[in-house]
Amino acid sequence: MAEAGAVSASLLDKLQSLVAANGPMSVGEYMTHCLSDPEHGYYATRDPFGVAGDFITAPEVSQMFGEIVGAWLIEAWQRGGAPNPVRLVELGPGRGTLMADIMRVAAHAPDFLQAASVHLVETSPALTRRQSETLAASGVEANWHTSFDDVPEGPLLLVANELFDALPIRQYVRLDVWRERVVGIDARGRLSFGIGPGVLDSGFEARQGSILEVRPAGEALMAAIAGRIAGDGVAALVIDYGYVESGPGETLQAVRGHGYTDPLDRPGASDLTAHVDFAALARSARAEGAAVHGPIEQGAFLLALGLRERAGKLGANADEETRQAIGAAVERLAGRAQMGTLFKALAVTPRGVVPPPFKS
Ligand code: SAH
Repeated sequence: MAEAGAVSASLLDKLQSLVAANGPMSVGEYMTHCLSDPEHGYYATRDPFGVAGDFITAPEVSQMFGEIVGAWLIEAWQRGGAPNPVRLVELGPGRGTLMADIMRVAAHAPDFLQAASVHLVETSPALTRRQSETLAASGVEANWHTSFDDVPEGPLLLVANELFDALPIRQYVRLDVWRERVVGIDARGRLSFGIGPGVLDSGFEARQGSILEVRPAGEALMAAIAGRIAGDGVAALVIDYGYVESGPGETLQAVRGHGYTDPLDRPGASDLTAHVDFAALARSARAEGAAVHGPIEQGAFLLALGLRERAGKLGANADEETRQAIGAAVERLAGRAQMGTLFKALAVTPRGVVPPPFKS
């Protein structure tokens, strides 16, 4: 208890002196400090995944997720003319589990294996260490970068699972116009939301007090990815929780110990994210001349690519308990009440290519 308290208190101290010196900060700056502060940031200081952590991601639910994503990437590479060399890139790889599962599938595709070099883009030193342990145990050689811009040029095959939700958002509140929401300090010295000088001409009308979220860093990252794919070829797959149409609505959330908490409580001690605006990502990608497919729901994506068949194979020679666990994982990944509909998959390719299971 004392230790956890000390971590949050010192990021709180740091934020308080920043506000005292510079005035209130944007919600985006607040998120960046909470997630990525080198000393106290959430991802900088811990491994948050799994049953003992704060939340579970799809690759940690079951190896079936990574196997299907791996098969998708190899298929997309073939449809894209099987370029050699190709950079196989993952953004925000967490524990490295997804890439290890992808490479287990790639072991059955010698041409692909021969062409691909693995590049992981990660900002957290703690998670970089964790990824290198996972991949070393699987015999996978990888290169690490702290920014997508550092990935060497050439054809690109990219995957990002639950990365965009962690990129900072800015929030605007509907008053006379859309005015930027900021994080400052109240009279009692506690972090509190306020209204800053920034305004946004969004074109959206909404009731007084409504919140609108934008994610300039996410759109810029998507533009960089799509620009490379339109120019040098192959594909990207983005999977995350989010919404299909842009519009007002607050989705900023803090998660700690598998439950929701106040985003301003104990900064640095909880995961701070916001839902992904897939329409905004699609616009950024199209503006770079790339084709966008979907988003479709994660459940539909995985089932169309053979989730049930994989579960059947995996369970064929297993005992009853393992079969039940596999069934529960299918439900968790694809079920309506679980990750199946809230999570969506969006693909980016050069124009003229349609990867499965997308229809257009
Ligand atoms: N993809 C993993 C982890 C998701 S959590 C999984 O599905 O299990 C988000 C991941 O993105 C973490 O590894 C975090 O450290 C990383 N991350 C956060 N901001 C990032 C950024 N700007 N660039 C690259 N990685 C980032």
